[in-house]
Amino acid sequence: MANHTDWRQLDAAVRVSPGDLRALSDETALGKEVLPSKDDAEPRTEEDAAAINGLQDRLYAEQRRALLVVLQGMDTSGKDGTVRGVFNATGPMGVELTPFGKPSDEELAHDFLWRIHARVPHRGMIGIFNRSHYEDVLVVKVRNLVPAAELERRYDQINAFEKHLTENGVTILKFMLHISRKEQGERLRERLADPDKHWKFNPGDLDDRKLWDDYMAAYQTMMARCSTPHAPWRLIPSDKKWRRDAIIARIVRGTLEAMNPQPRKPGFDPHSFVID
Ligand code: ATP
Repeated sequence: MANHTDWRQLDAAVRVSPGDLRALSDETALGKEVLPSKDDAEPRTEEDAAAINGLQDRLYAEQRRALLVVLQGMDTSGKDGTVRGVFNATGPMGVELTPFGKPSDEELAHDFLWRIHARVPHRGMIGIFNRSHYEDVLVVKVRNLVPAAELERRYDQINAFEKHLTENGVTILKFMLHISRKEQGERLRERLADPDKHWKFNPGDLDDRKLWDDYMAAYQTMMARCSTPHAPWRLIPSDKKWRRDAIIARIVRGTLEAMNPQPRKPGFDPHSFVID
């Protein structure tokens, strides 16, 4: 059982190995065995969020590296909620958030990674992708939007692209927010029942819900094929929002601490100045 305070243990519990076709079941969406107790999860998440803010300041002062957080998951899985829960303490100047919706005509006139590469975070920043290049092997696979041979090549192209980024100072954290079909049903019903949430309801989401099993199969393949030593997937149990945020906050904080950003040394001697 993972220890809440030891981020490496927690990380090992959710990290997907290359080639691992992880079952996407109701149990893995709940994740009791990953993080059993709610006890102090919420205050710890807040503490971690505050620490992430301080670490991002150092990353900015270093100006050498960036952190890219990729969020994938079915509708209502909590991609926006994760941004709110984990990065709420990181100032807007430190985070670059990019949602990826249906590609525009201009985007479709380029290779699928073109729009993605353009939004990779600047050095010193945390970039968050709400959906990502992985839609190009998820919705595109489930809805047969490109020929099978082209789709097949994309997994290797993604791995090569991510290797290129990591070799150029971008650390990549990929989180698959896994909810059960039952939990999605509840969240969609909630949206319909509350007039303040109607704007969040998209009738098109029901079409994807009908293809649930196809999506789960596509997610499994995606994680097996694109969990690499340089950029593994993390399968995050997301039926409980507190558990989702607690795990992600710990891993983001632990990763930034391990990166240990060091503010640049100034090109002058700070002791040589006297301010009157
Ligand atoms: P969300 O559901 O992410 O909260 P939303 O419902 O407001 O967002 P958008 O953000 O405008 O919708 O777009 C999300 C939709 O775009 C999803 O249905 C997703 O499958 C689709 N999409 C994203 N990338 C691609 C892609 N490369 N090809 C086809 N469809 C894509």
